Amino acid sequence: GSVTRKPLIAGNWKMNLDHLQAVAFVQKLHWTLKDAGHEHDTVEVAVFPPFTDIRTVQTLIDADKIPFALGGQDLSTKDSGAYTGEISGAFLKKLDAGYVIIGHSERREYHHESDADVAAKVQAALRHDLVPVICVGETLEQREESGPTAVSVEQLKVALEGVPADADVVVAYEPVWAIGTGQVASPEQAQEVCSALRAVVAASLGDEAAARTRILYGGSVKSGNIASFMREPDVDGALVGGASLIAEEFAAIVRYQ
Ligand code: PGA
Repeated sequence: GSVTRKPLIAGNWKMNLDHLQAVAFVQKLHWTLKDAGHEHDTVEVAVFPPFTDIRTVQTLIDADKIPFALGGQDLSTKDSGAYTGEISGAFLKKLDAGYVIIGHSERREYHHESDADVAAKVQAALRHDLVPVICVGETLEQREESGPTAVSVEQLKVALEGVPADADVVVAYEPVWAIGTGQVASPEQAQEVCSALRAVVAASLGDEAAARTRILYGGSVKSGNIASFMREPDVDGALVGGASLIAEEFAAIVRYQ
């Protein structure tokens, strides 16, 4: 991390926790952090629940003044209309979502999202004043074939096409082989790719954007390994899947310092 960029610890719940479980979970996470004396101005916390939970979580964090940012796990490239099953960025914004995850490897794999789809979703997010959390990362096969950085660099280049220099974006480097596998990347591997991604932000959006854009690592992040990632200069936080579903564990990740 860097002193100029506020770390972001983001919990991607994936298809876990219904809206009732979400209430219990968010309350527990809030009180766990509060009891530990967590200062929210040092590390930003964001949760990404399933769409059906978002209204409930919004109401809870608003009523109890819980300082968590909220985001969707995906959005439509379209803003409204005859697109059965799709969720518009406008709807997420109405629910006070600040962020939206775009191009997660599970969307790329199971829903065949291409780099062009990801780029269209980034544009949709920016149209609605949502900060896109752009996910990139290589499979093991791709790493062996073209090295550690080529796939992520190309994915990010396409995603940033047409993005204005003053846009707020977050980038998440998530090597596919490290997601949900317990096979975590080494801090050095994460740094190598995150630094290459920062160079892409610089080339696409300029040096000022590169200096302020947060780049996260994701893939089997746990309380026991988060600090080693955060020591790397170009890693500004984490996108956490499995470990974001256990309040004590996620709180310990937030309090890595
Ligand atoms: P994981 O998932 O932490 O369970 O590996 C990370 C992610 O997919 O965002």
